[in-house]
Amino acid sequence: MATADQNAATPPDPATRRAHALRAAVEQGVLGADLPVVGLLDAEGIRESARELRAAFATPGVTVSHAFAVKAASLVPVLRLLYAEGVGCEVASPGELALARAAGVPAHHIVLDSPAKTAAELREALALGVAVNADNPQELDRLDALLAGSETASPIGLRVNPQIGGGRIAATSTATDRSKFGLPLRDPGVMEWLVDTCVRRPWLTRLHAHTGSQGCPLELMAEGVRVTYELAERINTTAGRRQIDTLDIGGGLPVNFASDATRPTHHEYARLLRATVPGLFDGRYGIVTEFGRSLLAKHGTILARVEYAKTAGGRRIAVTHAGAQLATRTVYAPGAWPIRVTALDAKGRPKEGAPVSQDVAGPCCFAGDIVAEARELPPLEEGDLVALLDTGAYYFSTHYQYNSLPRPGIYGYACDGDAVRFATVRAPQTLDEIVAESGGAQPEALSALG
Ligand SMILES: *Cc1c(COP(=O)(O)O)cnc(C)c1O
Repeated sequence: MATADQNAATPPDPATRRAHALRAAVEQGVLGADLPVVGLLDAEGIRESARELRAAFATPGVTVSHAFAVKAASLVPVLRLLYAEGVGCEVASPGELALARAAGVPAHHIVLDSPAKTAAELREALALGVAVNADNPQELDRLDALLAGSETASPIGLRVNPQIGGGRIAATSTATDRSKFGLPLRDPGVMEWLVDTCVRRPWLTRLHAHTGSQGCPLELMAEGVRVTYELAERINTTAGRRQIDTLDIGGGLPVNFASDATRPTHHEYARLLRATVPGLFDGRYGIVTEFGRSLLAKHGTILARVEYAKTAGGRRIAVTHAGAQLATRTVYAPGAWPIRVTALDAKGRPKEGAPVSQDVAGPCCFAGDIVAEARELPPLEEGDLVALLDTGAYYFSTHYQYNSLPRPGIYGYACDGDAVRFATVRAPQTLDEIVAESGGAQPEALSALG
């Protein structure tokens, strides 16, 4: 058929796919009477971002290994899809490691970072052959003990804090003077100690720096990588051999939450790195990256029903089912984490009507549970829907159990022309599960203490 051929020739762009999916989610009952809020993931969009990342860093003669920061979307099917696109996992807890393994990601494509690894976690990582980035001197001592007399396939690195300053958002700036992460390179004596300690530990073959996440300018991130590269050069010169053979440059590419444009791109960042740190790409070092938000954010959407629409103090308020439990950072730090909200009718189509100022509120029982304050939107009514855009990373996958609200179901979608297929990524949490996870198996525990 002619239309089918045309559809095949020009696949829908991400915004068109999303519009189709929002309508289809209503039509197909993905969102329904008992399921007033869901998370949606664009499988093709995730693939496209992974390919763009790989293409951006691909360099003849350089081993580049990408690890997705699992905390950005801790969902096994997401990890599996990314791994199929050549992106492994960066994990920072036993739970995240378990997710990576459940997704079938092999140990040599997993990197373990975390400022609080226990001895048991370190032992397991070394036994599996997972790459480990140590955070501090005490962790190096533990590794000394664990490595004494035993072999491991794990590459081991040391996280450094280049102390080059923060970005726009303090909570996601990790290279400040007093950051809790890594070895503070500019503190008195630390650089000398570090060079010496590396030379005496030949198993230390990597340096790791993650300068920050959302809010850090690209130039700051690239400067963090440059400082780390210079340190590797100094260690190798002092050691008289190529001891540091890999630099883990972290993640942190910021995401544009203001429009559908993807900017900056991984390509732009890689170009800046090639200009700022040319030696990183000349074949003497392997490169590890750990991007999270930039791979997933734009491919996720929260779709929620407007349960009631009211006015207070002259302002309209749409009370929806998406609030702090899903958009935690946006609700608690609205200045730093604004997101786009669109108004849809009950069928999931864009709502018509002259925009008026209204609050889009969530279901949580505290007054500040507002996702968008005084936002200009077509007037929302009972039974309408709202879509919270760019919420594929650190939103519905990072649920917060306020008010015992259930973790919503998450569904992946794929478009064949106008037709949309859904697959369950994570089933919605049931009431029985909420009770079980809230001590439901031992109701007498406290009473029995007497
Ligand atoms: C959070 C984190 C990342 C990912 O950051 P994004 O901003 O999501 O890209 C990478 N590495 C480390 C060590 C992190 O803590």
